[in-house]
Parts: sequence; C-alpha cells; structure tokens
Amino acid sequence: MFILVVNAGSSSLKYQLFDMDREEMIAKGLCERIGIDGKLTHTTVGKEKVKKDIPMPTHTEAVKVAVECLTDKEFGCISDMSQISAVGHRIVSGGPWLINSVQIDGPDGKVLEDLHKCFDLAPLHTKAHLQGIEGCMSIMPGVPQVLVMDTAFHQTMPAQAYTYPIDYETAQKYAIRRYGAHGTSHRYVSGKAIEYLGNKNAKIVTCHLGNGSSISAVDGGKCVDTSMGLTPLEGVIMGSRCGSIDPAIVPFVMERENIPADKMGDWMNKKCGFLGLSGVSSDLRDVREAAANGNERAKLALDILAYQIKKYIGAYAAAMNGLDCVVFTAGIGENDDEMRAAAMKDMEFYGIKLDAEKNKQRGCFEIHADDSRVKILVIPTNEELVIASDTLAIVTGKEI
Ligand code: ADP
Repeated sequence: MFILVVNAGSSSLKYQLFDMDREEMIAKGLCERIGIDGKLTHTTVGKEKVKKDIPMPTHTEAVKVAVECLTDKEFGCISDMSQISAVGHRIVSGGPWLINSVQIDGPDGKVLEDLHKCFDLAPLHTKAHLQGIEGCMSIMPGVPQVLVMDTAFHQTMPAQAYTYPIDYETAQKYAIRRYGAHGTSHRYVSGKAIEYLGNKNAKIVTCHLGNGSSISAVDGGKCVDTSMGLTPLEGVIMGSRCGSIDPAIVPFVMERENIPADKMGDWMNKKCGFLGLSGVSSDLRDVREAAANGNERAKLALDILAYQIKKYIGAYAAAMNGLDCVVFTAGIGENDDEMRAAAMKDMEFYGIKLDAEKNKQRGCFEIHADDSRVKILVIPTNEELVIASDTLAIVTGKEI
C-alpha cells in the first residue's frame, strides 16, 4: 500500500511516498517557490535526482507536478496515481479542536471547519495546509486525506503545564494555552527510546534541535511538558526565533522602535535567535564557523542554546521526579556533536555522563559513558513515517 505524505508550507510543498508494506520511503520531492517561478527537486530511491524549473502558480499545480513525477516512466516509482491509497497531511497546529489524527470527511465537513478555526493560532501554516489539502483533493478526488497534527502528542500534558497564568476569560475566549509543536518527532524518538530501554515507564527528555527547536518531557510514553507554547516561538533560542523572553520586552521595544503588532511578530520570529544575536546567520553551521573565527556574539549564541538545553533537562527531570534517558534529534541534535557535548557537560549530578569519543562518531546511537546512569541517545527523527503510519492506521481502521 502506498501512502503519500504532504507537508505544505507557504510557498513550498514537500512530499514523500511510502511503501507501507516495507515501511520505507520510496520517493521524495520538494516543490519550491510556488506562486513565484516554481522549482522542483524529485528523487526516487535508487534513481538519479531530478531538478526542474516548472511554473506552479498554486499548491494545486504543485500537487499535480508531484504526482506526475511519482508516476513518470523514467524517474518515477509507481505506474498510476490510483496506486496512492491515501494522503497524510502534516498540520502544524490543531488547536483544541483537532487532537488525534483524523480523516477529512468531505469538503464541507467538520474536520476542515475545525482546521479553519486554527487559523489564528498558526496563520501562515494553516493557510498553506488548507491550500495543500485543496490541491490534493482536486488532483486526487476520492483518495482519503488524513490530517496528522504536530500538536497531538502534547495533548496529554496536565493543566499545570499547559495553562498560562494570564487572565482566565481572555485565555478561554481565544483558546490561549500551551499546545507545543514537533509532536510527531517527539512521539517517534521517545517511542524508539522506550524500545531501546525496554521500559515503557521510562522518563525521557527529548531534544528536537533544528531550525525550530523544542524539548519535551515524556513520562511513560506520554508527554507531560514541552517547551514550545501557544505558537512555536516559546522555548529555547532558535535559528531566527527568540524563544522565551521576558514578555515585557515586547511592548518595551514596540513603543521605543514604533513597531506595530504584526511587525513585532516578524521581529521575534525572523530577526532574533542565532541570526539576531550573532548577526551572522540563522544556520548553526555558519554560527559555529563564525565562533571558531573569534566572533564573540556567535559564541554567545551557541553557549545560550547549550545552557538552555541543560536547564530544560533539569526542570523536566524535576517535573517527572526522575530521568532515564536524554534523546537528541533533528538537524542540530543529530549532527552537531559540539552542541551535545556542551549541553551534557557538568551533568554528573543528574547521573548524566557523555562518552566523548562515541559522541563524535557520526551515526552513533548510544553516546553515554558506560557508567552513566542516564542513557543518552541520538535518534534520527522520521516525522513523515509517523504521518504515513497514522494515515494507514486510519484508512484501514486500525488503532493508533
Ligand atoms: P528544520 O527545523 O528546518 O526541519 P533541521 O532539523 O533540518 O531544521 O535543522 C536545521 C539546523 O541543523 C540548522 O541550524 C543546521 O545548521 C543544523 N545542521 C544540519 N546539518 C548539520 C551538521 N552536519 N552539523 C551541524 N549542524 C547541522
């Protein structure tokens, strides 16, 4: 059975086709610059990468291009679109309305109505998701479409973790609470860690460190706290997002710099973090290079991330009354051994001890020292496989 996973962004659409009999991705692609000039990159596993300039005025054309690539005789992998049994869509925020993965029941159905309600919580993402869904429904009519929410895994948080101590009526009126993000990633890597530990009651801190970063506390397979909040802005320092700051900084800067609310959102999301602090780049590799060349602001940005990871681990160990395992994943977590080493330094108090040599080995799964009480794992994330698995479960009526 083939499942297509779609991740629609504002001007891009990423797709992966999974053969679920083998649980393997067999082709993937990226449609970029939708509505601009249109660029496509497609790779079928075992075949050469294809790059093309193709106009894609909307997400519907992007889906069409993706399906054409997948069914292409030369560089595709399936003979006909009808071989795609279902489509799973990555949804960044399901708010309080969309919790578990769910199949769209029709163009005017409740699921889409609920997705529209999420607009305020993640305007850019939700708009893109709706366009991606619309594109798939028009190009592949009759093929079941399933939504998999990035916020779902965090729905098990207790009220004390997800409630903001703000005026209750305002919070209720606008559904303001912690929803978290990267839920499919935290779910996937914590599941793998539980398998490895052979302990379904394990207390785990999962560190998803990428362009956007979030850290979660997972107790017995359930998320009990996470660093991202109402939006993916809260938490640790990120590529260009500030993470948690004193809320009073916001009106302070707005007043002095005469910045309106929407522009202030841009400032916090696009002009802060590694980029704003270092003045170099939002990409950790560039920041690391600058730091190595003596750029003090770049070094400070790196130190801040390592320090914040450490603080979250400490806080979550306290929240869970214990810690068995720390997991690193995503672009930085999987690849940057220096960040892992800095974050794990001086943590013997918690029973955390890194093996410096193992940590440096690429692709090493266990990086803790033999006498470390807490296990430290590097687990490559696979959000798309989670989406494909949920989609398959829903369309075949299995339990997730
Ligand atoms: P996104 O949140 O966009 O999915 P990724 O998970 O791909 O992001 O992570 C992007 C981050 O990972 C960037 O800061 C990048 O510098 C970092 N990264 C990717 N590869 C490496 C590497 N080999 N070494 C160090 N950092 C890396």
